[in-house]
Amino acid sequence: VYDFKYVKANSIKEAEYILSHEPDSILLAGGMTLLPVMKQRLLAPKMLIDISSINRLIEIDQSEDFIEIGSMCTHFTVASSKNVRHHLPALAFLANNIADAHVRYKGTIGGSLANNDPSADYPAALVGMGGVIVTNLREIKAEDFFLGMFTTALEKNEIIVKLRFSLGISSSYQKFKHPSSGYAFCGVWISKLAIDEYRVAITGVYPCVQRWKEVEKNLRSNQNQEIFMSSKIDRADIFTTHDSTILYKEQLMRILGQKAFMEIM
Ligand SMILES: Cc1cc2nc3c(=O)[nH]c(=O)nc-3n(C[C@H](O)[C@H](O)[C@H](O)COP(=O)(O)OP(=O)(O)OC[C@H]3O[C@@H](n4cnc5c(N)ncnc54)[C@H](O)[C@@H]3O)c2cc1C
Repeated sequence: VYDFKYVKANSIKEAEYILSHEPDSILLAGGMTLLPVMKQRLLAPKMLIDISSINRLIEIDQSEDFIEIGSMCTHFTVASSKNVRHHLPALAFLANNIADAHVRYKGTIGGSLANNDPSADYPAALVGMGGVIVTNLREIKAEDFFLGMFTTALEKNEIIVKLRFSLGISSSYQKFKHPSSGYAFCGVWISKLAIDEYRVAITGVYPCVQRWKEVEKNLRSNQNQEIFMSSKIDRADIFTTHDSTILYKEQLMRILGQKAFMEIM
């Protein structure tokens, strides 16, 4: 690792101040991605700003209409929160199936979203449920947040503060894991937003999370699981690895989509 300075911010304002005054600074959340990337010398920030002591970032609040999850909540916290388990069980399930226990205890929901790995799980939930990313500067709809592989709408001095999810949406998440990392080969999130309105978000298949709009359209007129087998798939941007092909990913989308749909029927 190249030399760097480390500071602990005690408030969002302080973190924002350091970020805007130190050009080569970067936020440190759980460090599960940032530290390995620095060890591999793919990134050499001059200063790490640790935001793990900012109490506001680890709160989970519930109102009549929403649950808001602080960005520094670990996957373990999300998976074990009584509120999340009760109101957003699919999100708790998703968090509990990320990686291994070590990563779940250290990795955070905010870090995962900011990183926007093409195979990360949370982006599917955010887009699938129409969640909102609340930062120190503004509120960003999930749909406008994920721009491409490891790219988001976040600006240099922007800090994810919390994630907002509406209550009363029935959802399911199905994922086929890579056996070594636990990352999604393919993950399908489905939410029922109204009687004949479904939202389907795919992770692990495209450069970043993407809605399967054809299946959403077809489900409006025919709420049958067979729709997942017959709906057209946008193949142009499917990425493959040495252990997967386009056809393989397509089949995963269809089968996992069916499973997810049947769970909320
Ligand atoms: C072995 C392994 C297996 C994994 N498997 C999975 C998996 O199955 N599914 C999955 O979804 N993920 C998986 N991950 C990713 C992991 O879950 C973490 O969520 C991810 O590494 C980033 O979270 P972090 O809190 O560690 O962030 P960090 O590594 O600390 O930061 C990552 C990036 O986000 C930025 N950042 C962090 N917090 C904020 C914030 N509040 N506002 C703005 N920017 C911020 C940082 O500056 C940095 O650029 C895996 C990771 C490892 C190492």
